[in-house]
Amino acid sequence: MSVSAPRKVRFAPSPTGRLHIGNIRTALYNWLYAHQAGGGQFLLRLDDTDAERSREEFAEGIREDLRWLGLNWDREARQSERISRYQEIVAKLKQQGRLYPCYETAEELERKRKRLAARGKPPIYDRAGLFLTEAEKRALEAEGRKPHWRFLLDNFTDDPRQIERRDICWTDLVRGEQRVDIGSLSDPVLIRADGSYLYTLPSVVDDIDFGITDIIRGEDHVANTAVQIDLFAALGAEAPNFGHHNLLTGADGQALSKRLGALAVASFRERGFEPLAVVSHAATIGTSDPVAPFSDMAALAANFSFAKLSRAPARFDEKELAAVNARLLHELPYEAVEARLAEIGVAPERAAAFWEAVRPNLHVFEDVKPWWDIVRGAFAPVIEDRDFVATAAQLLPPEPWDEQTWAVWTAAIKAQTGRKGKALFRPLRLALTGREQGPELKKLLPLIGREKAHARLAGQSSKDEIAKAV
Ligand code: GLU
Repeated sequence: MSVSAPRKVRFAPSPTGRLHIGNIRTALYNWLYAHQAGGGQFLLRLDDTDAERSREEFAEGIREDLRWLGLNWDREARQSERISRYQEIVAKLKQQGRLYPCYETAEELERKRKRLAARGKPPIYDRAGLFLTEAEKRALEAEGRKPHWRFLLDNFTDDPRQIERRDICWTDLVRGEQRVDIGSLSDPVLIRADGSYLYTLPSVVDDIDFGITDIIRGEDHVANTAVQIDLFAALGAEAPNFGHHNLLTGADGQALSKRLGALAVASFRERGFEPLAVVSHAATIGTSDPVAPFSDMAALAANFSFAKLSRAPARFDEKELAAVNARLLHELPYEAVEARLAEIGVAPERAAAFWEAVRPNLHVFEDVKPWWDIVRGAFAPVIEDRDFVATAAQLLPPEPWDEQTWAVWTAAIKAQTGRKGKALFRPLRLALTGREQGPELKKLLPLIGREKAHARLAGQSSKDEIAKAV
């Protein structure tokens, strides 16, 4: 299949929790791959066969997280709604003799494994269930035992007791040539004794029915792939492509699992990170590209390539995400934030110049608020050097003001007072903004305007504005 043909991919989370930085990457790679060429489709599949742990609130939370990230999906499917389809397939597999009942308890299986280990043998299931007679099965069921069902792997010629080496090979989109001997694996359980499905069978059936062309997921699933390929074959289907991406560790190289709450999409959102910063960061960590913001999803999709993914674990460092977020804001054009600035009350006639002035100082978008308060005068000026700033007030040039005004004004102050450098600029900045640092004053000054600048230098803040801001 040519890679330029439209891709059909799926992101298949279990709704047992919210999305976090680890699974954002899986969702994102799928989305980017689908959108790289025209006509691709991205399916959201909720793997909710575990009725006990799956919750509607998590399903809704996952949708909300994906929407916020900009990872819209073309279709949604839920495994819990497809049980009758899985039952059809189960009937087919039983008929083919590829699904057989087993009656061992967990303790009995554990004892078998120990016995094998004592003889230095790998812990492979002995297929005892496969050789039970009907009478033996009835007797076990009369004891109250319920069977679980195993898939008979295609790793023998005639006699299932004579297991042979049988390599299953695939060309992984990320890892290249892969080879797993299914002669070294136990027949996997597909259905539990309580009748519920493990993930393998529903996943393969869905991938066939939905025409999935590529399965893109974390490396932790590599071990499942050979079994799944065997199941695709048993169901007469061609297996899709597989791509297993590297997993994340913390900045310290340790697994992320313990701190996932803080690494949830929802928590990034609460902390004011831009969705585009989160996806840009997720798309570039653990790749040969520099970790950097992208201007939009189309640019990310155009840049995406499995060849760039590293095989080593990718490190997640929140400081790096914060830096990407800040850089994104610094590069964001006014048009992209016009509506958000209006929402927080930035005057439309000054909004573009205001954005231009403050964006290099932002870490998160919310930081614009105090700067807007400063522009409109809702803060207390700090007067450090009363006589000096009073002199400066008298030297304020007449309006209209522009970006040259600051240079003209400070040259006049320097000429009159002989001050320069920090001694000149610091008292002015403190009086005009109440802060020691901030956006360039040549940009802020025209936004503040002569009347307010004069009042601040004279130590009078605009009481009305302060009252409004409280
Ligand atoms: N529900 C599985 C998971 O979340 C899906 C794995 C797959 O993509 O096949 O790990």
